[in-house]
Amino acid sequence: MSARILDGNKIRDEILSDLRKEIEALKAAGIVPGLAAVLVGENPASQIYVRSKVKTCESLGLFSEKIEPPVTSTTEEMLALVDRLNKREDIDGILVQLPLPSQIDSKRVLEAVSPAKDVDGFHPMNIGYLVSGRPGLVPCTPAGVIEILKRSGVTFKGSRAVIVGRSDIVGKPTAMLLMHEHATITICHSRTRDLPAVAREGDILVAAIGRPAFVTGDFIKPGAIVIDVGQNVLKTADEVKKIYHNPTEALKKLEAKGQVLIGDCQPEDAMEKAGAFTPVPGGVGPLTITMLMVNTVKAARARRGLRAAAA
Ligand code: NDP
Repeated sequence: MSARILDGNKIRDEILSDLRKEIEALKAAGIVPGLAAVLVGENPASQIYVRSKVKTCESLGLFSEKIEPPVTSTTEEMLALVDRLNKREDIDGILVQLPLPSQIDSKRVLEAVSPAKDVDGFHPMNIGYLVSGRPGLVPCTPAGVIEILKRSGVTFKGSRAVIVGRSDIVGKPTAMLLMHEHATITICHSRTRDLPAVAREGDILVAAIGRPAFVTGDFIKPGAIVIDVGQNVLKTADEVKKIYHNPTEALKKLEAKGQVLIGDCQPEDAMEKAGAFTPVPGGVGPLTITMLMVNTVKAARARRGLRAAAA
């Protein structure tokens, strides 16, 4: 068997094309949704993420502002900044890029963001809305997982969904969303006994673990839909050879780019056993920033009491 590839880039383009029309309509009504991206310090990965978020805003015609407080900023200074952004009329979404330097109390800062502008969906009030199935701002990566599944014609109702990983930003919200779609959910973590057997019960299997190629063939029910959220980097030929059954292509990539991006699933096993699979790269990854844009537009509408656009 060879799994159907669920192409995240294609789904991203579909969503962005719909979103562009919505943004045009808002602009015609004099509304330009705006996102503030707060970046503290020089974490290279954070810099890349924020840059591509700002770039995506620009390409869609959204207003965006990158704010870079000094790396020595205190919690109080960050709270004052968030307060100013909460009050600004031209800002609909506030994104505080994590991790923050250790002297800053990240939790307090995230909880200070107005729930109406919390486009990451991390505020306890939005988490509450998510759990109770009320409209709110939903974390971006889990929202992207659901978009991939829906737009690929997956049937949720009555299906068994197994989520490996229970983080607040991926595992738990993904499980909630799948439950609201009427899947029967099982959430697994590092203490789950006989994980491969539990994972094999999933008609839908979501891997959000943070360990390269952890989910091997014996975790996958034949024909299951496998969503690989993981993003891990392999940097040496030894690492590549240890993970791939046939490492030729990956070794070429390593030589060309100096690294190989791999998910939490062993891709050759997933391609062989799954019915459908999100590749890494090009699966869930492209959806995260896309859903941030969707949330920014959603927040802009909701703050002005405008009805959400038809899905
Ligand atoms: P976390 O480290 O916060 O959570 C990992 C989860 O995996 C934990 O619940 C942990 O269990 C579980 N886990 C770890 N080891 C094992 C194991 N041996 N067996 C079973 N469960 C295990 O990670 P995140 O949720 O933030 O991210 C998960 C992955 O998704 C990462 O690869 C990350 O890079 C990627 N990611 C990708 C995004 C994208 O845009 N595509 C966005 C966000 C994340 P326990 O709770 O018991 O410790």
